[in-house]
Amino acid sequence: MIKTLIIGGAGFIGSHICDYLFKKGHVVFCMDNLITGDISNISHIRDDRFHFIKHDVTNYIYMEGKLDYIIHFASPASPIDYLQYPIQTLKVGSLGTHKALGLAKEKKATFLLASTSEIYGDPLVHPQKEDYWGNVNPIGLRGVYDEAKRFAEAITMAYHRYHGIDTRIARIFNTYGPRMRIKDGRAIPNFITQALKGEDITVFGDGYQTRSFCYISDLVEGIYRLLISNEDYPVNLGNPLEMTILKMAEKIIDLTKSKSKIVFKPLPEDDPKVRQPDISKAKEVLRWEPEVTLDEGLEETIRYFKKKIND
Ligand code: UDP
Repeated sequence: MIKTLIIGGAGFIGSHICDYLFKKGHVVFCMDNLITGDISNISHIRDDRFHFIKHDVTNYIYMEGKLDYIIHFASPASPIDYLQYPIQTLKVGSLGTHKALGLAKEKKATFLLASTSEIYGDPLVHPQKEDYWGNVNPIGLRGVYDEAKRFAEAITMAYHRYHGIDTRIARIFNTYGPRMRIKDGRAIPNFITQALKGEDITVFGDGYQTRSFCYISDLVEGIYRLLISNEDYPVNLGNPLEMTILKMAEKIIDLTKSKSKIVFKPLPEDDPKVRQPDISKAKEVLRWEPEVTLDEGLEETIRYFKKKIND
């Protein structure tokens, strides 16, 4: 039996990974302190092969027995969350990654880090390839997340080089789908909730900043392929379909048949102007690329939010 620990397993992406690995037959240990994760994301998995452990990973982790994989997804990950929890964000990316790596060393487990396109900051190279080092403001409001993840990558590579641990680093670009929190501050949940409730759609800045959005099932498939690969260095995972945020707002109004109007609000500090993954490495090394179309992914996400809002 393959035994896997997913730290941050009750969060949006973490819980989908729990589902995926559970279906693959793994014994799954899901660890979360539930500050931004939600137990309802995993409460449907009831089985002897699934274990929930409430624990803050910045503290020493003790686990008995063998572990084959440790997957570290714990972190506040939306701008609103890391503005609300700046110190926890820094701690989970630094101390939390250190503890998780210590456990990986002890168990001789493969370690997968959820990194982020935020490590590229407000990029001066477009689209972003893994060999771009980024343009990050260390003392800005987003710095707590960006620098924590940059440190997390550095310590992961140090454990690889000095302790010989098998490491995987996923640089995850904007991802969306069911189990995102309603109005968690990110564009897609905000826009869908606003559209469904007939509220104004809040586009920040002039809406001409771009992002590239990947549907959750595509991302999880990419994470799995990376996990079982031999690639110790970072790999971008995301959907290269780039669009302006204004276009995304219009698309959501369209798909929800909403009467909501778009209103413009100030652009948050250090909000990247462009973002698009170059996924040639993932295509080559993992034989992976996204398959779900934007319309399919958004329809599924809108269905989830409709139900959430009505519950
Ligand atoms: N955004 C927006 N309105 C909102 C929430 C976000 O216009 O209600 C913008 C935000 O300023 C950014 C883009 O949408 O330019 C994507 O934001 P998100 O928080 O989803 O992700 P990130 O900025 O981390 O890529």
